[in-house]
Amino acid sequence: MPYDSTSPLPPGETEPLVRIDHVTKEYLRGNEKVIALRDVSFSISYGTVAVVLGPSGGGKSTLLHILGGMDRPTTGSIYVLGQDISGWTSDQLAKYRRETVGFIFQSFHLITNMTALENVELPLMLAGVPKETRRLRAMELLDRVGLADRQNHKPGELSGGQAQRVAIARALAADPPLILADEPTGNLDSQSGQEIMSLLTALAHEDGHCVVIVTHNEDFVPYADHVLRIKDGNVQEQVQNRPSATAEIQRGNLGHARWLTLYALAWHSLVKRLARGLLTGLGIAIGVAAMVLLIGLGSGLKSNVVQGVLSLGPLNAINVAPEAAKSQSGGFLGPSVVSGPSHPITQKTLVRFAHLPDARGAYLNVTFVAGATYRGRSTTAALNPLPPVKFWSVPGVLPTTLKGRVSSKPLHVLLPESVAEALVGGTHPQVGRLLGKTIVLHIETVSGGLFSGQGLTGPAHPIRNQSVIVMGIINSGLGFVPYSTAETWFKDFSSNARHLHYPGATVLARSLSQVAPLSHQIGAMGYSTTTLQQALHSIDKSFSLIETGLGAVGGIALVVAGLMIGVVMSMAVLERRREIGILRAIGARRRDISRLFLLEALSIGLIGGIVGIAIGAGVGSGINVLVQHSSQVAHGIFTLPLWLVGIGLLFGGGISIIAGAVPASHASSLNPVDALRQE
Ligand code: ADP
Ligand code: MG
Repeated sequence: MPYDSTSPLPPGETEPLVRIDHVTKEYLRGNEKVIALRDVSFSISYGTVAVVLGPSGGGKSTLLHILGGMDRPTTGSIYVLGQDISGWTSDQLAKYRRETVGFIFQSFHLITNMTALENVELPLMLAGVPKETRRLRAMELLDRVGLADRQNHKPGELSGGQAQRVAIARALAADPPLILADEPTGNLDSQSGQEIMSLLTALAHEDGHCVVIVTHNEDFVPYADHVLRIKDGNVQEQVQNRPSATAEIQRGNLGHARWLTLYALAWHSLVKRLARGLLTGLGIAIGVAAMVLLIGLGSGLKSNVVQGVLSLGPLNAINVAPEAAKSQSGGFLGPSVVSGPSHPITQKTLVRFAHLPDARGAYLNVTFVAGATYRGRSTTAALNPLPPVKFWSVPGVLPTTLKGRVSSKPLHVLLPESVAEALVGGTHPQVGRLLGKTIVLHIETVSGGLFSGQGLTGPAHPIRNQSVIVMGIINSGLGFVPYSTAETWFKDFSSNARHLHYPGATVLARSLSQVAPLSHQIGAMGYSTTTLQQALHSIDKSFSLIETGLGAVGGIALVVAGLMIGVVMSMAVLERRREIGILRAIGARRRDISRLFLLEALSIGLIGGIVGIAIGAGVGSGINVLVQHSSQVAHGIFTLPLWLVGIGLLFGGGISIIAGAVPASHASSLNPVDALRQE
């Protein structure tokens, strides 16, 4: 029958609280069958004290465990409030223990690292009672057992009698109708024993609980309303006095533990074993740090290279050269060069390119290499034409200016930052001094665009020194001059100014998706083409490999850390068998126990993850500082994108959950009676 605590209670007069009906319990010890209970039947009502007497090994504890839903009978039934609990599921029995049963043990079984108050609160935590309510209730109960002034003491700071009274308060926390005490005075001196017996008897006779006390002390027989003598599994019932009906205790309708409460418990036990938790977390931290650092370096390197490539022009650009590339093999750009037979590029060719359906336009692409001089300092600069003004709105066509601005005025120049630095003999802030100043260029060679593979050629005519005005400083390796200036210079270079053969051209596709077909079409016309898209694609491929490799190294570190968590949690389960048993006895479900261990593992993993990300970011920033000091990389090579933080946390948490899963499931499958048995 399903457990339904909202169903109306049977009339208290006729139905006893508990009725044991022909219960037998057999154990297997090796091959030998042990009969702990033989065909036991009796019943007990509200407001009565039943004392169970008998020699050791007689079956007393077995009887109590079956009454309390900690164990199931081999045959027979146990009716509680008219419902047979003998076939109930583990979860139903846990609910039964939370709402209907309060256990008291010979060795108190308090949780040693919790205060008296926290111990009393524990069953209410497992029943999902809000914090304020359960705190008030626990204080009220400690007051009831005479320990109001001991609420913040740990069990180790209490006498045996006091500890047992805390345990009684805990058993009463959910106000269960049935109180089961297994030799509650066994570890106490006779004075404390008498006090505990009086307290338990009062619970029945004053408050209306049904109290079952196991003992082997004949002196306690006078306390009893029922005496159950049990020997070799046989029970003889002896009724002394049946008190007149007292107030019935209604079984409460409680919930189960909330995630937040379980998290608080997990955190509590983590903090109590801080050193070990930190050590385990450190393992995760190192793993996550390695992963974050390596992947961060990989992706930082990649974005540096990609930035470099992107600064070379817009993504929809196709670089066209008149003939096949000669010496482009080897580099990662190599495979992207398409070869074809040689055709010259003339002004007419540019018009033809511009009229291709997928093309937005075409213009001369040429690189001048020039000596640059300013106030006695000299350096070398590579200069390209700025695209014609009508293409300036195309994203990526214009270089990024750090200082000054882009203009189409003839004989103005945009200088790369490194060239400007060499000319002023200083670093970043000082390069601004060059703006508007005249520098002298001496053009030495000319070649096709960056990817054209055209050999360098000297000028056909000796070229005068060119005075140009610095209009801006840019974040690029190449400098730029206005298109008209580049055209004029190129004419000056050529032997035949009437029939100009351009070393290279740039064709802009209308959209990114048209880059590949357009490039193919131009290739078919007999030109060699290169695109930034192809270059980026091969960069992407190479770096995916690098990142996967680096990530795998970090991953291995994490797996090792995960194993560590697994081992530590398994040890914790062994060590905390008793605690697990206590939690189950006071009503924790199996899944509560496994959640408790998983949450603890998860906390370790997440904290390790956070620390690991911090370590990784710290080391990465250090590397950036070093790199920036020793080379020209402006932004350093380590980056920590948000997705990497996410991955760090995901791995830290994920690995710990995976590692904690086996120990957690082991913990939750422990039989509560076995877990509590004294070894
Ligand atoms: P008592 O509490 O009266 O000392 P128990 O109920 O603990 O007795 O045990 C009754 C009998 O059942 C004993 O012979 C004991 O050895 C046996 N027994 C109890 N639990 C188990 C078990 N889990 N496996 C095998 N035998 C058990
Ligand atoms: Mg026993």
